[in-house]
Amino acid sequence: MDLKEKTAVVTGASRGIGRATALSLAGAGASVVINYSKNRDAAEEVKDIILKSGGSAITVQADVVDYSQCENLIKSAIDHFKRVDILINNAGITRDNILARMKAEEWQEVIDTNLNGVYNCCRAVLRPLLKQKRGGRIINIASVAGIYGNSGQANYAAAKGGIIAFTRSLAKELGSRDITVNAVAPGFIETEMTDQLSDQVKKQALEHIALGRFGKPEDVAEVVLFLASSSGYVTGQVVAVDGSLSM
Ligand code: NAP
Repeated sequence: MDLKEKTAVVTGASRGIGRATALSLAGAGASVVINYSKNRDAAEEVKDIILKSGGSAITVQADVVDYSQCENLIKSAIDHFKRVDILINNAGITRDNILARMKAEEWQEVIDTNLNGVYNCCRAVLRPLLKQKRGGRIINIASVAGIYGNSGQANYAAAKGGIIAFTRSLAKELGSRDITVNAVAPGFIETEMTDQLSDQVKKQALEHIALGRFGKPEDVAEVVLFLASSSGYVTGQVVAVDGSLSM
């Protein structure tokens, strides 16, 4: 898979799935913009790995909740690499709680980051993508919770379900411009996000995974890489990467 001459922006690339995705896109030759929110050192480490292996990368701090920061993120990509071709909307958070106990802030924070963040970055990248007239790839990281729901994650599932509907709508809007828009729906992936879950929750999840193991960030990254580098006849799709959890 060859992404030489392409520039990819990956939100939330300092850790977990975003980090693995940034490394894998860089490995395929893309220049990568590593976005992070707070964790500068971790983002710089990802950049150093890419630079040491002969790739190109920059880090850009931006809170995806804020539209002007997303505009600045895309502008930084163009200022530095002269173009933007691929956007991976990966930044996300959880604030799990059963609805009876869920505070309005827990609902709002998750919707703002996980759903509005995707809108903000897509909106910001659209004008340059259309102006370049070279097509493009947008890949949104959803979740199997956005398809099937999950107890204790009404906020998260609503945001991720929203991403899926948004992805399909945007795919219809942008198909004629050769811009594909797809979603990847991970199941249970070993990152800091899932580290915090109890042993009981982990044990229950594992019982429903036919492959008998949790996913690794690289399992998701390789599917993202495929969608980012494919010839472009896959759009509006949701690809589950979940070892059968949702089956
Ligand atoms: P993670 O390890 O917790 O990493 C989250 C990343 O998002 C970090 O890079 C973080 O940046 C960034 N981030 C958080 N809020 C942000 C904001 N407002 N603006 C910009 N960046 C922000 O999470 P992960 O497990 O890799 O998850 C990545 C994506 O996959 C998320 O969308 C998540 O919902 C989805 N997902 C994960 C799983 C799973 O099992 N892990 C399953 C399904 C879907 P800082 O380091 O600077 O804080």
